[in-house]
Amino acid sequence: MTYSSSDITRFLSKIKLTDKGCWEWQGGVNTAGYGQFAIHRGGKFINKQAHRVSYEMFKGDAAGKNVCHTCDNRYCVRPEHLWLGTQAENIRDAVAKGRLSNPVKTVWYRKGRGRDEARAYAVLWLLGKGWNIKKTARYIGVSRALVKKIKIGEIWGHLGRPATLVSLLA
Ligand SMILES: [Zn+2]
Repeated sequence: MTYSSSDITRFLSKIKLTDKGCWEWQGGVNTAGYGQFAIHRGGKFINKQAHRVSYEMFKGDAAGKNVCHTCDNRYCVRPEHLWLGTQAENIRDAVAKGRLSNPVKTVWYRKGRGRDEARAYAVLWLLGKGWNIKKTARYIGVSRALVKKIKIGEIWGHLGRPATLVSLLA
């Protein structure tokens, strides 16, 4: 996607520089807990993740890849703090930084906007370890229908498949 100068101006009006040098997103946030930026195209608004938009605006094409953070601040949209990785690289990075050492534990301390994503990771992890849907649902405190959807990748598919997650965390 290409961006107009008015897109860029509007984008830059929604950031705040932090002490750590991050450009923290001040605009809307999506259900996955990432900044969200609406782009007007062809009479419609397209919502995109703000850090993805930043990568595309200032660094280049990100198609088919994950835009990851070196600073571990999910609201940060500073181009220098963003790198392009595959899903596997993103997960490995999260593991290395201790963000995912035990996906189940992460669920309990994550509050608010990041909680759904943490739950999805935990569900994938447990399924990958061979837990069945019923046991996983009860343990994480979500419905069986939701676990099923996560299992087949209907939702949270971008987080990876159960088996991948387990092998990366092993
Ligand atoms: Zn940053």
